[in-house]
Amino acid sequence: MTNREDTPFKARKPATTVIHAGRKPAQNHGFVNTPVYRGSTVLFPTVAALEGRHQPFTYGRHGTPTVAALEDALRSLDGGAVTVLTSSGLEAITLAILAFVETGDHVLVTDSVYQPTRRFCETLLKRLGVETTYYDPLVGARIADLVRPNTRLVLTESPGSQTFEMQDIPAIAAVTRDRGLWLLMDNTWATPLYFRPLDHGVDVTIQAATKYIVGHADAMLGTVTANTRAARHLERAKEALGVCPGSEETFLGLRGLRTLDVRLERHNRQALEMARWLEARPEVAAVLHPALPSHPGHAIFARDFSGASGLFSVVLNPVPKTAVAAMLDGLALFGMGFSWGGYESLVIPFDAKPYRTATAWNPAGPTLRFHIGLESIEELKSDLEAGFARLHAAT
Ligand SMILES: *Cc1c(COP(=O)(O)O)cnc(C)c1O
Repeated sequence: MTNREDTPFKARKPATTVIHAGRKPAQNHGFVNTPVYRGSTVLFPTVAALEGRHQPFTYGRHGTPTVAALEDALRSLDGGAVTVLTSSGLEAITLAILAFVETGDHVLVTDSVYQPTRRFCETLLKRLGVETTYYDPLVGARIADLVRPNTRLVLTESPGSQTFEMQDIPAIAAVTRDRGLWLLMDNTWATPLYFRPLDHGVDVTIQAATKYIVGHADAMLGTVTANTRAARHLERAKEALGVCPGSEETFLGLRGLRTLDVRLERHNRQALEMARWLEARPEVAAVLHPALPSHPGHAIFARDFSGASGLFSVVLNPVPKTAVAAMLDGLALFGMGFSWGGYESLVIPFDAKPYRTATAWNPAGPTLRFHIGLESIEELKSDLEAGFARLHAAT
């Protein structure tokens, strides 16, 4: 956990911050990168120092120089008061919720939320006596109609990571501010490079750092950044739950962060090009990419976000499931698997229908989610082109 001292990076551009924030070469014999500190016990020189905890690091769970380096960097990028690292993105979300609720409370969660977040609300949160209402992601200022006397927080995620609804965060923030609620946002898709939630009235911003921060599909990590108002709650929950990230994973997060800006720029460009190419294909009924003018949330995207990452979905025209399988099974460059945000291209078929409860999800045909990686875009298109030929052959 890092302190709240004012960051010298406030005035810096994100491209500079991702390179310089959290690095202290002078404290590491001049080496550019903070090394992996592995440790539990931290020694104190005297009884007075031990009793007074008069040193920056006191115990492994409370942080190491490696953890502090990544927390400092993310705090600068998010523009927050405190950043806490967790062992996964899901743990970042559950920690952020648990920081604010108690038995008898009510929370509002977007119907487009990451599915395991919903599972947490339906199981552990429910057992703690906290009730969840799912709301239409397009609710905007009408979220006010759903607020009850015991409502404590609103959880947003924009865009939804399968269905890509854009939420009107400033409109929701106006309500949460007015009613004294906490506003949380899962900002994994945009990262603070393309949307800074705390600048738009959000109190707590969350990322599955597993995705773009780590960026190489080789570690699990989460991050939560709170504004000044929310900082103490987050710190207390982190201490109480014993949340702490792994040393190697934290190092890989730092390693990934340094190239985040340049990777995202290419993910952004290639995914948009692929989205346009797919939009023109006869097999495709709709492309769900917020940066396309055809997307229903495009106006919000253009108003609030400065870029898009590499993840989007498509709705195919109706074809049998076996034809979709024939298309995907033979792909040479696109991998099939969960997660995203690494350097490589991915595709999965998905169906959001079973877990929507507040709103209907009725696409015209089968749905695919793409993550466009850093490969040659021409070769990625050829791979999909061959896939569409297999789809036709199997129809
Ligand atoms: C992957 C993901 C998470 C969870 O992250 P893990 O590190 O896999 O636990 C949370 N939110 C979104 C939007 C995600 O895509």
